[in-house]
Amino acid sequence: MKNKVFANRTLNLKKIKYIGLDMDHTLIRYKTENFERLAHRVMVQKLVNNLDYPKSILNLKFEYNRSIRGLVIDKVAGNLLKLSRFGGIKHCYHGLKEIEYSKRKKLFADTFIDISDPNFDTIDTNFSISFANLFSQLVELKDTTEIHKLPEYNQIADDIASALDTAHQDGSLKDVVRENLSDYIIQDESVVRDIEKFIKHGKKIFILTNSEYPYTKLLLDYAINPYLKDHSSWMDLFEFTITGSRKPRFFYDSLRFMKIDTETGQMTNLKSKLTPGVYQGGSAKVFTDDLNLDPGHILYIGDHIYGDVVRLKKDCAWRTALILEELEDEVNNNEKSEAINKEIESLMSQKIPVEKEIDRLISDEIENNHKNNKEKINQLLSQINELDQKISPLIEKIQKLYNPYWGEIMRTGIEESYFGYQVERFADIYMAKIGDFFAESPRSYYRSQKRLMAHD
Ligand SMILES: [Mg+2]
Repeated sequence: MKNKVFANRTLNLKKIKYIGLDMDHTLIRYKTENFERLAHRVMVQKLVNNLDYPKSILNLKFEYNRSIRGLVIDKVAGNLLKLSRFGGIKHCYHGLKEIEYSKRKKLFADTFIDISDPNFDTIDTNFSISFANLFSQLVELKDTTEIHKLPEYNQIADDIASALDTAHQDGSLKDVVRENLSDYIIQDESVVRDIEKFIKHGKKIFILTNSEYPYTKLLLDYAINPYLKDHSSWMDLFEFTITGSRKPRFFYDSLRFMKIDTETGQMTNLKSKLTPGVYQGGSAKVFTDDLNLDPGHILYIGDHIYGDVVRLKKDCAWRTALILEELEDEVNNNEKSEAINKEIESLMSQKIPVEKEIDRLISDEIENNHKNNKEKINQLLSQINELDQKISPLIEKIQKLYNPYWGEIMRTGIEESYFGYQVERFADIYMAKIGDFFAESPRSYYRSQKRLMAHD
């Protein structure tokens, strides 16, 4: 991978004074598959223990590949959907079974999905991978076993959501992370080093996370403190650490800031103007007003496509950056698929003149009443058939490079996926991991490329 930071819109870091970081999956990288496997197990246990689901579901095995970022969950129909940039359904699984193109066409015709409809949920972060997998597994189970009556699909979705909520509230997820930090959290010394470098260059770095203070402290103590050279703790490193921020509400509402006593964790209402420190809650408006900041001088980096990027872009004028950990694989696979794409193009360049010739022969029949073109046309049609038989395995070969069930994250066929569209529309820059950003110069000038339109 040559470039590491990609620009949708021009961004001059010289103008950025404050760089805000989301914590989970942004500043702090998770061993995603491990964490999602744990979340899957905890949700299954809660469903059995608290919501009377059959004990047999305890045997369900987490399947990491079964869902990818950007998919949409149709809670009423029990489907997982991959959408095109216009919201058209391009891939669909009901439970664990794929709905083939012809059946899909009958079922959905050309309906476009409106993801703001509450019957839909989107996989906006990697924290939802296990949710989507478990939902598909339970839909499959409901359809295929008579022994245990499972509730309606949308009730299953609500039950999983409530199981996950409980798991967050009663600490059953976080306690496991706390006891086994190295199984779930990646430590990256170079990121800490590079953040200190940015600070030397005068950039102010702050954290804005929905995680509560105790969990924030746990992860930052583990992933940041051991590598600091110029600072004694992450509390000095970051100008502000805003926990429990309730994003995206933070960006449009006016919740109060509470000051956190970092020794005791006690919180008190902030009555004066905001000064550097550790907080809970608050709002973007107070943040920029109190610090007298031009919103265009703040860059916020997060991994949640809706909460950190789309909503922020709609409500504030902060600049946006998205972390997309799957990007590294996706770009590598794009490179691998280049040679195959060339083969497809060369076969297509043989196919198109044949199609044109068939069209000419048909016109000739109609306009000049020639009836003797049939044989020639059939000959050409079988040529096309031969070419198609060479093309389809090549397309399959490309698909196999990516996720076996869903293909690429950013595209669906030649179109962008809905997720790809959101990234392009709302994230000014994007990258696979936070280290890619901090490894660059604090005065980087990110320029977007000229985009091709249909007539170009
Ligand atoms: Mg996050």
